[in-house]
Order: sequence, then C-alpha cells, then structure tokens
Amino acid sequence: MKKADIFEFFRRLAEANPAPETELEYGNVYQLLVAVTLSAQATDVGVNKATRRLFQIVKTPQDMLDLGEEGLKEHIKTIGLFNSKAKNVMAMAEILVREHGGEVPADRDALTALPGVGRKTANVVMNCAFGAETFAVDTHIFRVGNRTGLARGKTPLAVEKALDKNVPQPFRVGAHHWLILHGRYVCKARTPECWHCGVVDLCAFKGKVLVKGAKPAAAARGKAAGRNKAKESKA
Ligand code: SF4
Repeated sequence: MKKADIFEFFRRLAEANPAPETELEYGNVYQLLVAVTLSAQATDVGVNKATRRLFQIVKTPQDMLDLGEEGLKEHIKTIGLFNSKAKNVMAMAEILVREHGGEVPADRDALTALPGVGRKTANVVMNCAFGAETFAVDTHIFRVGNRTGLARGKTPLAVEKALDKNVPQPFRVGAHHWLILHGRYVCKARTPECWHCGVVDLCAFKGKVLVKGAKPAAAARGKAAGRNKAKESKA
C-alpha cells in the first residue's frame, strides 16, 4: 500500500472511532496485565465476565497473593486453560511484589520476563497503559495487515515490524486498536464484509466480498486461511 493510502486508511478508521480502546475491562495497570494474560485464546467477553467479580477483590499483586491460586481458579474457571493461567498469574504476582515493588514495569524486557507474558501481551500493556507506540499483533491484525497490504508478513513478528515501519503519525498509538476492531467487526476471518468497509478503495485484497451474502472467492479464501494458520505469537 502506498504511503498516502496508508495515511488515508488510518485517517478514516480514526474518524469513525476517534478514541479507540481495548474491549477488556480493567481499573488499573495491574488489572490490565492480568486481563490480557487471561485473554490468550479466549474472548474479551469471556474474560470480562470472569474478571468483573475478581477485580472487585484484586487490585494489586499483593491482593492476588492473598487470594491464592485456588481462589483465583474459582473466578476464572470459565476461561480456557485456566489452570496454567492461574499458575502464571500467581507466579507473576510474586515477582511483581518481590522485584518491582508491586508495580507493573513499563518496558518490554521486564514485562516479557514475567511468567505467561509474551511479546503480544507486553505490547498491549505498553500501549494501553503507558501510551507506547507498540503493535500487538493478534489474529485480527495479522489477517488485516496481510489482506489489505498494509503490513504483510508470514509471522506475527514480521507483521509487527512492517506496521512499525509503515504506520505514520498521528496514528501510531491508536493503530493496533483500530486494526483489531476493524478485523473483529468488518474484515472478518471467514467473510470480510467489504460491502460496508470504509477503506475498500484502499485495500489490496483480491477476494473482496462486495455483495452481502456472496461467498469469498475460493482462491483468496484458501490463501487467507493459510495465512491464518501461520503461528500466532505467544500471548
Ligand atoms: S475491503 Fe474487505 S478485505 Fe479489505 S479491509 Fe475492507 S473488509 Fe477487509
């Protein structure tokens, strides 16, 4: 995609949603870190359901240690992989209390050193909590980046690097939110809803579905599915 088109792409997404936010619910940075950790291979809606009650009691890493692993499991048992997530969240709380004075560090190396925190989670926390220009490539961003030609890559890290290179100011902080929301609600995995897509004239995807009810072209569908199988980043 040409530079001017990329600018226009984000200008339109920004115009439609000037203050994009994560759909995960949280009250402070620590709760955000926990929510993002729990959201790996789970939906934001499912995580919010579980954390609404949990976050009334747990506001700090010390609160989490006081609750204990079994107590935490009771709250998150509706979320996939809750056993291993509970272990990670408890180990993370211990490290935050022991090594960071109960605070969430703001840099990627310190974040990814925490149990259960991969590059994607660190990027979300750095972006949403600290306003960093990071691009947390999830399945939606991976798909939208490749389909549109905005940021092509065979792995999430390659797409992240392409976004870092291609996304201009003043859109760098909001970019990952706009792309996630666009992928979740318009540029959907199975059938992209190109018939009401606000950036349809800028997008390079060959299999556009321009009529509601039509099926995506087989070739493009297969290609997109292949890309979607490309390893997703560690949470
Ligand atoms: S035109 Fe279609 S494929 Fe391109 S971004 Fe919009 S919904 Fe996605």
